[in-house]
Amino acid sequence: MTRPSLPIIDAAYIAGQWRRTERRFTVTDPATGDTLAEVPDLTADDAREAVAAAESAWPAWRRRTAKQRAGLLRAWFDAIMTHQEPLARLMTREQGKPLAESRGEVAYGASFVEFYAEEAKRMAGETLPGHGADKRILVFREPIGVVAAITPWNFPLAMITRKCAPALAAGCPVVIKPAEATPLTALALAKLAEDVGFPAGVINVITAENPAAVGEVLTTDPRVRKISFTGSTAVGKRLLAQCAGTVKKASMELGGNAPFIVFDDADLDDAVEGAVASKYRNSGQTCVCTNRLLVQAGVYDAFVEKLAARVAELKVGNGLDEGVAQGPLINAAAVDKVREHIADALEKGGRLVCGGESHDLGGTFFQPTVIADVTPAMRVAREETFGPLAPVFRFDDDAEAIALANATEFGLAAYFYARDYRRIWHVMEGLEYGMVAVNEGILSTELAPFGGVKESGLGREGSHHGLDEFTELKYVCVGGL
Ligand code: ADP
Repeated sequence: MTRPSLPIIDAAYIAGQWRRTERRFTVTDPATGDTLAEVPDLTADDAREAVAAAESAWPAWRRRTAKQRAGLLRAWFDAIMTHQEPLARLMTREQGKPLAESRGEVAYGASFVEFYAEEAKRMAGETLPGHGADKRILVFREPIGVVAAITPWNFPLAMITRKCAPALAAGCPVVIKPAEATPLTALALAKLAEDVGFPAGVINVITAENPAAVGEVLTTDPRVRKISFTGSTAVGKRLLAQCAGTVKKASMELGGNAPFIVFDDADLDDAVEGAVASKYRNSGQTCVCTNRLLVQAGVYDAFVEKLAARVAELKVGNGLDEGVAQGPLINAAAVDKVREHIADALEKGGRLVCGGESHDLGGTFFQPTVIADVTPAMRVAREETFGPLAPVFRFDDDAEAIALANATEFGLAAYFYARDYRRIWHVMEGLEYGMVAVNEGILSTELAPFGGVKESGLGREGSHHGLDEFTELKYVCVGGL
């Protein structure tokens, strides 16, 4: 059997055509600094063309039966999984995460395509009791229209499928604007979609080095009816404001400031494993990564000691190398932020337990770091580090833990470890978060609604709720019966 392979694609994809342009930008491997490809730096006009292509593909796409759309999604899922290995390698090269994590992301990303292939067939409307003997109430669920998906570099594949699979299932065409650091995985996904027979214009991918101009089109063009964004809170707020002019429906998956609470009745070994998985996955560069460890006074010293011992085992290196648990950070700015948070914490009395410096490998490799004796006065209490820094706060009782956990404008994911069942219920209910993991360090799955409250976002992705984001209800009153 020949091994499946994927050539690097260095063209954008609009209206079923692969487009190359004079103006291009470079995609680099963050582990080596090597150039991987040069891809088109598209303009606002190109973005408008992609929107037009999606708009013209829409009528035929929505008219297909749900089963036909489901069939294409299922074929896309199979193609993605057949190419799991080359996709994972490509992802590690452009993003830096360890190969095992990239393989996991391909499977996770593909799971949304599989799930929504099934869900497409369950997009039912309803009939409701009428308000008069001669009237009936019908409720149709209709595709909302052209969807713009703007995605981040930390999950180059899964953030695309998590948006596009439900959109496509619902009968919506998509224009994808992948992050400038990681467009190659997005283009590979589009190629697989083309190969399995998605019609021209139903899936478009536009690449741009400076996203503001194409972003402006996607958020202001009246033909775009829905924007689905994952990225920083600052950019999300700006896009939301831009969407106001045409009253677009918007889903926003923004920043977090995840607390990870360890109570004194927790299984400490389990809690350490959960904390490492949650904190250091993707070198701390996920929006659900633990940002603050809150540990009860009675187990504080024991927990810090165990955590530091475990963190010291994490192998840092090129994600393609065997046994590597932590790759490079995405760029120099990401390293600067980690450094600033460490310096601020140490200046204000934090105690460095391990790490704290750039790694000997140079570049953007950074040592996994633990700081103890962290207080709410430090920047890490309020800001998302998005890097391999675990700051450990101390608390005395449950009420203080909940208050500390909620003392943020964010509300994406929260984690806690405890065994007492009454405590588990009270804490679970007290946390103002869209997602809570109890005695678990990882919670993402296509089967559950992913999303945040407060300034962490709007809307949900995954599960049957994820499909709602791409549909509108049409109420029809049938009278005169
Ligand atoms: P990060 O800080 O993690 O890079 P961003 O929020 O800057 O996150 O990026 C997430 C996505 O938003 C990327 O695809 C990026 O290109 C895009 N983006 C950033 N600024 C804008 C903008 N002004 N308009 C549209 N998209 C943008």
